[in-house]
Amino acid sequence: MKTLFARIKDFCLAQGFDLVAGIRPHDYQHFDIFQKWVQSGKNADMQYLSSERSMRLRQSPYEIMPTCHTILVLVKRYPPAVKQSSKELAIASYALGDDYHRTIPPVLEEIVKFIREQSGHELVAKAFTDTAAILERELACQAGLGWIGKNSCLINPKIGSFFLLAEIFLDLDVLNENTIPSPLPDHCGTCRRCIENCPTQCIQEDRTLDASRCVSYLTIENKGLIPRELRSKIGNHLFGCDVCQQVCPWNREHLDPAVDMRLPISIQEIRSRVLDEDEFRRLFRNSPIKRPKRTGFYRNLAVTLGNLRDETDLTILDRLLHDGDPLVRRHAAWALGQFHLPQSMALLNSALEHESDPAVRAEIYTALE
Ligand code: SF4
Ligand code: SF4
Repeated sequence: MKTLFARIKDFCLAQGFDLVAGIRPHDYQHFDIFQKWVQSGKNADMQYLSSERSMRLRQSPYEIMPTCHTILVLVKRYPPAVKQSSKELAIASYALGDDYHRTIPPVLEEIVKFIREQSGHELVAKAFTDTAAILERELACQAGLGWIGKNSCLINPKIGSFFLLAEIFLDLDVLNENTIPSPLPDHCGTCRRCIENCPTQCIQEDRTLDASRCVSYLTIENKGLIPRELRSKIGNHLFGCDVCQQVCPWNREHLDPAVDMRLPISIQEIRSRVLDEDEFRRLFRNSPIKRPKRTGFYRNLAVTLGNLRDETDLTILDRLLHDGDPLVRRHAAWALGQFHLPQSMALLNSALEHESDPAVRAEIYTALE
């Protein structure tokens, strides 16, 4: 008869997870790094990370669940795309499928149900996937699932770093001494490829990122302007950025040139059709791309098209220059300013005739300079 943990593990793997490990909770050792990161403002506008509550909860797993006896850490891979050509729009690999915030929680619930049945225990459990104030990469390290690379991602020597993490906290000890894993050593060695290739040079020496400069933050979590000095560094990254993972030698053999872009609309359509609020919400309702909302999406599209400087995009940029949203209009003005063509200048001048928003007008004047 298999142990309870072995049965749980088999069930998790059958539910589509790729790796599963269990640990007993300990206070976090990386809290000091997290605290320093927040105190130096590297969390950008993500205020929820620096709140008193967040700081308290991130000191120990017991803060989230005082009765916790076991933490299951689960890994779910997603297909990693190779670096897109610099002439095409790039989308982070995790965003090419359905939103994991919708797909993973029901599976975690099934796992909890299974453990409850198998253990015969009135189980109390809390399950998370990127949704709780926990240091999940440290938990995964403790669970022997990888090491935190210089790019701040968890890296597993067998499967690389293109995966999602989920955790289940249990008020039941399901481990025995044979199932408690040991942490893996750091295998980054002298490599610095992620640091050298990061488009905004935002990777810090302590294996954290300056979120205020990271393309992933700027194009996903950021609700406002993309700072002018960073717009050209966004390159072709419409949503998120995989560069520091794509260049990592531990991912080399996993990159898939044939990753299926399961987007609700094609990349060609994105470049030719401006969706209204309802269409955007409907089309992207199951996609991570809805996260920055329509405003953030078209702000990003304007910036990337300004960087690609393809004349066939002038028409859609003109439409974005007349969008109902001033944030989109501001970035469209910047983008048109990148072309340095008589047509793009004419579009900017024509918009000035009726543009009344002072911030957009200022952006148009700068673009015309
Ligand atoms: S996601 Fe992109 S911008 Fe952010 S650290 Fe990695 S390479 Fe740099
Ligand atoms: S690119 Fe090199 S330094 Fe960066 S995470 Fe990968 S192995 Fe570590």
